Amino acid sequence: MTKDIATPIRTKEIMEKHGLTFKKSLGQNFLIDPNILRNITAYAGLTKKSAAIEIGPGIGALTEHLARTAGEVLAFEIDQRLLPVLEDTLSPYDNVNIIHSDVLKADVAELIRKELSGYSDLMVVANLPYYVTTPIILKLLLEDLPLRGLVVMLQKEVAERITAKPGTKSYGSLSIVIQYYTEAEMVMTVPKSVFMPQPNVDSAVIRMIRRKVPPVNVISEEFFFEVARSSFAQRRKTLLNNLQAHLPKGKEKKEAILGALHKAGIEPGRRGETLTIEEFGRLSDALYEEFGPSSEGK
Ligand code: SAM
Repeated sequence: MTKDIATPIRTKEIMEKHGLTFKKSLGQNFLIDPNILRNITAYAGLTKKSAAIEIGPGIGALTEHLARTAGEVLAFEIDQRLLPVLEDTLSPYDNVNIIHSDVLKADVAELIRKELSGYSDLMVVANLPYYVTTPIILKLLLEDLPLRGLVVMLQKEVAERITAKPGTKSYGSLSIVIQYYTEAEMVMTVPKSVFMPQPNVDSAVIRMIRRKVPPVNVISEEFFFEVARSSFAQRRKTLLNNLQAHLPKGKEKKEAILGALHKAGIEPGRRGETLTIEEFGRLSDALYEEFGPSSEGK
């Protein structure tokens, strides 16, 4: 086996050899601890029959662990300067395909069809660039890609929000959207010392496994997410006040909101943060008739 990229000495050597500097604006905090990388890779449960999709390979620290464990790695890197570096550092591996692209603009579904058609087990595994963690995760989940799941490193505070349970400070619309699509758990917290350069925030790894069936059946997913967002618009406010202020035409329809809350068996004085996903589902369906898209002109 070749020497790990992810040690402080080798990372420095690679950066110097290629005359590279870290770009803070692209969230470039590279991992320099092989143990953390082994753990991240293990949490993804990869075999040679799996393909790994990586966002932001950097200089290849995680990529080489994925290449050793999975059948194939497809990695998206936005920074052109890193392409010759990756060609160099990953030269021992013939199963890595680097796509030079902003993952937010890439047609990931098409690339999966073209490049990974032989694989039925697909996992996203990444140490995400922290300035865009949420948009990247939401894109990968909402585009309905054929993924088993995602194992990603991100800011601890965002990891807490994604995995939060009802009644906690971190619980909000992000918890609901992600837990609607996946079973999400925090599997590891990670000290700043395993990065070069060290980030300002604490980090964590979460594992999200796509659900085969959603935890609640709703008439409209889009409307369900809108109700969840509206319910948390101002956390101190009650459900009734938030829904009145933030649902379209909510102001004119206090009675309708009260009726829907009653039908869903939810006290109007409760706060959004106390509702389970199932309760949000019931509430969303009860509100849909009055406030959903087909209620135009009512
Ligand atoms: N995987 C490497 C590691 O663990 O050492 C690097 C991780 S570093 C936190 C994030 C990487 O994402 C950087 O290489 C950065 O250039 C890349 N990146 C930032 N924004 C991106 C985007 N929108 N699309 C693809 N890659 C991006």
